[in-house]
Amino acid sequence: MENQEKQFVDSFMAWLTSRNPGEMEFHQAVYEVVESLAPYLVRHPELIKMKVLERMAEPERVVIFRVPWLNDKGEVMINRGYRVQMNSAIGPYKGGIRFHPNVNLGVLKFLAFEQTLKNSLTTLPMGGGKGGSDFNPKGKSDNEVMRFCQSFMTELQRHIGQDTDVPAGDVGVGGREIGYMFGQYKRLRNEFTGTLTGKGIDWGGSYLRPEATGYGACYFGEAMLATRGESFKGKTVAISGSGNVAQYAAQKAMRLGAKVVTLSDTGGYIYDPAGLDEEKMNFVFELKNIMRGRISEYAEHFPGVEFHAGERPWGVKCDIAMPCAIQNELDGNDAKKLVENGCFCVVEGANMPSTPEAIAVFQAAKILYSPGKASNAGGVATSGLEMSQNSIRLHWTSEEVDERLHRIMSDIHEMCRRYGTEKDGYINYVRGANIAGFIKVAGAMIAQGLV
Ligand code: NDP
Repeated sequence: MENQEKQFVDSFMAWLTSRNPGEMEFHQAVYEVVESLAPYLVRHPELIKMKVLERMAEPERVVIFRVPWLNDKGEVMINRGYRVQMNSAIGPYKGGIRFHPNVNLGVLKFLAFEQTLKNSLTTLPMGGGKGGSDFNPKGKSDNEVMRFCQSFMTELQRHIGQDTDVPAGDVGVGGREIGYMFGQYKRLRNEFTGTLTGKGIDWGGSYLRPEATGYGACYFGEAMLATRGESFKGKTVAISGSGNVAQYAAQKAMRLGAKVVTLSDTGGYIYDPAGLDEEKMNFVFELKNIMRGRISEYAEHFPGVEFHAGERPWGVKCDIAMPCAIQNELDGNDAKKLVENGCFCVVEGANMPSTPEAIAVFQAAKILYSPGKASNAGGVATSGLEMSQNSIRLHWTSEEVDERLHRIMSDIHEMCRRYGTEKDGYINYVRGANIAGFIKVAGAMIAQGLV
């Protein structure tokens, strides 16, 4: 980094960390963006003067609220709810809701900041937002989850709307939770609108929304691999997580001819040397989405499968790695193991799963590496397509949605290539995604004046 760029990054980060003390994930996410934007900003002093990046790192609005509910024993429970409305320069706030015990303001600000750039990359008119609660749905009955969702939405409904802020699912929030929240929203507002995405197909949802993040990550991976004359066919793939993103990343990778050998959850990972097939996938869908069980049960059910308690799958030999669980789940040591074992492509399905040290290892080794904001954008893009279908009150077929998703992912890849190709031809997807996402939002912010 040149002197002027380094000075800009250092003073920006000093300002950001002093304003947002203790919000480690937010600092990490912003640092990655500021560092890769610095050369561009130094060449565009008018953007520095207008403090565009400072404004982008300051949420337009944050709502924090109490969520009281009764558990099945009749006891009073209290959780905390949040909505971070980060940036509305290019469209209504848009971003998921996360229910996880580790949710706090810093985590949601990191996710909302990333979301602003990601939504810009999708080519669709969506601003950035994120919300959630420290509620842990694990081990709760359906009735408890319903009561919690109803209480959460009783407050949130004041702050969202189809033209204002359109939430979706994220970790701990799938079809069941979206259903309960949509029902409560509809009852309180007396309107049937597309205010939430990820809805069921018979009540305003889009075909392929559940599949979109995982499928989109594989489409993005195919485009990355094609730059080196490669594809998923015949490759060994290690995937972490076993939730929504991991499930459909595994299904699509498998259907593209790859052998998927791992899945994981908070308990550990399974290694299946024979690879997943359609029957095993159906078992995972049932286990995780209906029985709400543990991935260790996969190893008990199928012969020849190992379960490694408390470990992550990055020591397994693979060609392609797809982290699809949670932030900071792949560190510098994991990255070294992957590279040593011959992994040459890392496609992030989760948000910020690789630590800065891990990213440095991938980029130093010049392997293909894409940040989540580019490769997992298929989820929010298809949410955007759900909003379009709700507005015109029509359903597109799954083939139509798939075709649009495919096109969006290859457009995002093209933007990363355009802004991220280095002198030696290496595509720095981090830089490409950050610059491409930033330019559009910055232009809109400047056009709209100081608001
Ligand atoms: P799910 O809740 O469906 O699944 C999350 C998975 O990650 C589960 O297998 C969970 O295990 C595991 N996990 C959670 N915390 C940890 C941890 N600390 N260590 C190891 N594993 C963990 O979430 P999604 O699949 O929807 O989301 C996964 C990631 O993808 C997140 O980063 C999310 O922000 C991102 N994403 C999701 C999109 C979507 O459309 N859903 C869109 C774009 C990004 P367990 O079952 O034990 O809890």
